[in-house]
Amino acid sequence: MSETENPISESYPCEQCHAGILQPRFVTYFTWLGAELITVPNFPAWVCDVCGKREYDEKAIQWLNMLLAPNAGKPTSNQQRTPPFPKSRPNTPRPHLDS
Ligand SMILES: [Zn+2]
Repeated sequence: MSETENPISESYPCEQCHAGILQPRFVTYFTWLGAELITVPNFPAWVCDVCGKREYDEKAIQWLNMLLAPNAGKPTSNQQRTPPFPKSRPNTPRPHLDS
């Protein structure tokens, strides 16, 4: 009975090809922000040494999303909308159409 347990916790077997091992590497991460393509160099990811499957670090993704989404962590500033005009009109004088 010999369970082959991988002592190295910093590498995972690849779920895609089941042959390779995902190893920690730094890659360039691409993402779209609206119509702009954002590239993030030296982004932590796990890359399979056989099929090349990439898995990005979840925390890094969250961190990046926080950076890229300006509305996400915005403190609620005193943003008061001007209320719409009341619909009930006060006595509006009708224009006299008869000349
Ligand atoms: Zn693989």
